[in-house]
Amino acid sequence: MPEGYCVKCKAKKEIASAVEETMKNGRKAIKGTCPTCGTVMFKILGGKASAPSSAPGSTPSSP
Ligand SMILES: [Zn+2]
Repeated sequence: MPEGYCVKCKAKKEIASAVEETMKNGRKAIKGTCPTCGTVMFKILGGKASAPSSAPGSTPSSP
């Protein structure tokens, strides 16, 4: 489960029922709800749209 920041709990929470979405600008984002209070959470993922899906936090692949 991806983690996001809940503004209501003011804490990092696992995003419940997270759904990956691609925004108009081509960026990916995770949309879900806080498992504690149910507030909608939105986490914007970094990276380029054209880049292949790479796990964030993993070792970057250098050419
Ligand atoms: Zn919350």
